[in-house]
Amino acid sequence: MMEVGIIGGGASGIMTAIIAARNGHHVTILEHNNRIGKKILATGNGRCNFTNMDMNTSFYHGEDVTFAGKILNQYNHLDTIRFFTELGLYSKNKNGGLYPYCEQASAVLDVLRMEAARLHIHLIVEVHVTDIKKEDRFCVSCQDAKHNMKKLFFDKVVIAAGSQASNVQGSDGSGYELLKKLGLTVRKPLPALVQLQSDETYFKSVSGIRCDARLKLLVDQQVIHNERGELQLTAYGISGIPVFQLSSEAARALDEKKEVRVVIDFMPDLESVDDMKLFLENRIRQNPEKICEELFLGLFHKNIGQLLLKLCGIRGNVKSISLTPEQCTDLSKRIKQFDVPISATNPFDQAQTCSGGLKTSELSETLEVKKIKGLYVTGELIDIDGACGGYNLQWAWSSGMVAGNQI
Ligand SMILES: Cc1cc2nc3c(=O)[nH]c(=O)nc-3n(C[C@H](O)[C@H](O)[C@H](O)COP(=O)(O)OP(=O)(O)OC[C@H]3O[C@@H](n4cnc5c(N)ncnc54)[C@H](O)[C@@H]3O)c2cc1C
Repeated sequence: MMEVGIIGGGASGIMTAIIAARNGHHVTILEHNNRIGKKILATGNGRCNFTNMDMNTSFYHGEDVTFAGKILNQYNHLDTIRFFTELGLYSKNKNGGLYPYCEQASAVLDVLRMEAARLHIHLIVEVHVTDIKKEDRFCVSCQDAKHNMKKLFFDKVVIAAGSQASNVQGSDGSGYELLKKLGLTVRKPLPALVQLQSDETYFKSVSGIRCDARLKLLVDQQVIHNERGELQLTAYGISGIPVFQLSSEAARALDEKKEVRVVIDFMPDLESVDDMKLFLENRIRQNPEKICEELFLGLFHKNIGQLLLKLCGIRGNVKSISLTPEQCTDLSKRIKQFDVPISATNPFDQAQTCSGGLKTSELSETLEVKKIKGLYVTGELIDIDGACGGYNLQWAWSSGMVAGNQI
């Protein structure tokens, strides 16, 4: 039996602790919040999308995404479902995304906490880990809520301190500092699953509107990602799940000072600009009395219609029959290829996850740090980030299961 110290009581830390304790080790979780698993409660809008039936590395990003595959191949979504079912948590499949049957994230945390208690996992909360040194054993320095410093000693240590995203739940980026102090290389962390900002002033006029759209992410004029889903227009730019899915690549490209644009297709059910033009011309022919502003009635939110006309320099009160073929083409292009220059992402505190983190080349396939035997790293702290849809929690569970089993 070994003394195992786990820094961070989030999804990956708790999973590592449970697996290591089941293997007979004496496990202590050091958590700087006043309770473990705070972020789990916020997941999936309080419902916790804890994994997905459609699981492969195309849903992950990172400098070496094949590394994610090596970990997920050891413990995958089916292992996660089995693990939770054995703890009494039945799941509900919603378009491939798995949720607890009761749709309460707290149920996920409760079954984990109960299993941790059954296994006598020692929880020390309100301690902030500031340093880790490898001597004969690992010496972990931490500070309690009253600023008292103490040192704890372990045979093996797991750093599961999360990223810098949504720091109200405890992940304040201090995990990266611990890694750097140990001489490990961290790829620059950037916000991911986050809103995208644009300097275009017209966004204020369409703020609050949600609509079905197809989005293309262009980096230096190359299309690198396509998504369809519910787009949310905001005063500062764009949000919603399809935007989140583009955001990891957009953030990295912005950081590399590349040109980033998102092209929105407001009419994704029509194939091309030509189809859109035909559709508009038919609509005008069928309703020659309609003014331009009425042309989009029932198709788009009124403010989107007004914005499209304004950007094409067309007055809303002119008869649509008076539109020239060039104006129809221009309008069709705006609808199908609405071009948004992206200037920034929203900050870390609004991101659901981070891209970047510990370089995977520092880790073996057991998640042990190659140059520091007995030290493991799990979860979001590693340079792997997943798409929206249960992929980040699956990464946390898989990496926790792998590390927990190897200790
Ligand atoms: C609003 C929101 C919704 C989300 N929804 C989903 C979803 O539905 N599905 C999905 O798959 N993913 C979702 N995610 C992402 C997912 O929650 C995370 O990827 C996952 O929880 C990461 O787990 P982790 O254990 O690596 O890190 P964390 O959960 O961040 O845990 C790290 C823990 O370490 C502690 N800690 C940090 N530094 C120290 C230190 N120095 N000393 C002591 N303790 C420390 C922190 O307090 C924290 O408890 C969501 C994220 C957010 C913010």
